[in-house]
Amino acid sequence: MEKILNYVNGEWISSGAKEYADVINPATAELLAKTPLGGAEEVDKAVLCAAQVFKEWRRVPVLERVKPLFKLRELLIENFDDLARTITMECGKTFEEARGEMLRAVENVAMATAMPIMMQGYNNEDISAGIDEMMIRQPLGVGTTIAPFNFPAMITFWFMPYALATGNTFLVKPSERVSITMQKIFRLIDQSGFPKGVVNMVNGAKPAVDAILNHPGVRAVTFVGSTPVAKYIYSQASASGKRVQAQGGAKNPTVIMPDADMDTSIKIIADSAFGSAGQRCLATSVIITVGGAREPFTEMILNVASNRVVGYGLDNGVEMGPVISAQSKQRIEGLIGGSAAEGARILVDGRDSKISGYENGYFVRPTVVTDVNPKSELAFSEVFGPVLGLMHVETLDEAIKLVNDRNYGNMANIFTRDGGAARKFRYEVEAGNVGVNIGVAAPMAFFPFSGWKDSFFGDMHGQGMDAVEFFTQKKVVIERWPKEWSRKF
Ligand code: NAD
Repeated sequence: MEKILNYVNGEWISSGAKEYADVINPATAELLAKTPLGGAEEVDKAVLCAAQVFKEWRRVPVLERVKPLFKLRELLIENFDDLARTITMECGKTFEEARGEMLRAVENVAMATAMPIMMQGYNNEDISAGIDEMMIRQPLGVGTTIAPFNFPAMITFWFMPYALATGNTFLVKPSERVSITMQKIFRLIDQSGFPKGVVNMVNGAKPAVDAILNHPGVRAVTFVGSTPVAKYIYSQASASGKRVQAQGGAKNPTVIMPDADMDTSIKIIADSAFGSAGQRCLATSVIITVGGAREPFTEMILNVASNRVVGYGLDNGVEMGPVISAQSKQRIEGLIGGSAAEGARILVDGRDSKISGYENGYFVRPTVVTDVNPKSELAFSEVFGPVLGLMHVETLDEAIKLVNDRNYGNMANIFTRDGGAARKFRYEVEAGNVGVNIGVAAPMAFFPFSGWKDSFFGDMHGQGMDAVEFFTQKKVVIERWPKEWSRKF
């Protein structure tokens, strides 16, 4: 059983924390590691070190700054399957899903190696006779990421590579529930050639987060997690003058039009709803069928939900793993029961699941609930489990209204063969990520991850040019060099 370490100033450090969180394999309930719940003192040391090293790192030419990222990319690829296996063990998603997560992490590292071009400013000569004006981008100082449990590797990479390549130094606070993957990634960071103190990691929970939010040396905070915590992070960090972006929870609707190609779409939709056991901020959790789509869709989704292979994500052929914890299983099963009490009908019931050989695991099988009352808890709260609620309307306008009635705005999808319907949907829905005949509209590394409404607090998002904007501050210089001052050479 592993004791997770911190990594500060290029050294592995045993935390002085008195309390620890358990890292548990959710398929077997086996204890894998203990995460130290460090506090202000450990965060303070890491931030002071990163702030000191920033003075040197920002002066390193950008071509040199991206060299360790090239190396890190190679090391991540060499260790790809080991990292994916670790993700499955501590977080529960299948090995293939974990490989998908790693792919996006690597893609973001590759993207940030383009920083010599990405962080260029712009200029105009002769804004007035003999006067030139330029915009240059400079790094902020110490940046941070506070990460959730459901992507132990990828989410840190929405931010960290861009922060480092633009000349910031960095502190990562992984989720205390899944800290082994990031510890392994830091073993690779250690070999990548970053100068000591440029990249740091402190483990902990709320006290460590509060220390980050209050530390005067931290200039930028990125957070991904649940909406209540995202709101807290955004208000605290901005009140203390930091640049902040906080991505929150989701409740993603998918609209099925009567002309949708059901045969090709059903697997995509099932993967969106039940992939990663529904523990994805881009999981479809509400289906809105329009007109004649209701009968064929319901029949097909019942079939795929009932037949999905559930088990340990490292076993061959498994299509869906467990949810993260016993508490999570209990909460999800409570929501399913509550929906029936509010008038819905449970068509496929995944409660009380036992998986042979993994009787201690936290499994909820795919669940389909129909006639969901649009005002009920299941219609509005984030389930974060493999539960699909079905609703029905007669027109696209009604469907768009249902989509826009919710507080969250992470993703909204439509399945149709009609370009006009698709365009209307794209134009009118209040969501930052939109899928047209796509189940999980997850932006590539060169596009921003753009949640709206209660799914995002801030201005600039993660990944690509948004991340460059976020981790740099603009400086505008206006210059005049009168001719008569020039010496004659
Ligand atoms: P969480 O909010 O419980 O925890 C996220 C991080 O915040 C962890 O590092 C944790 O230590 C810290 N934290 C928890 N409670 C805190 C508190 N009271 N004060 C300060 N810090 C605190 O989220 P989670 O359960 O780990 O992750 C699942 C959530 O993340 C879901 O709501 C999901 O939708 C969301 N998520 C969103 C996105 C997105 O892009 N919008 C992506 C992935 C996950």
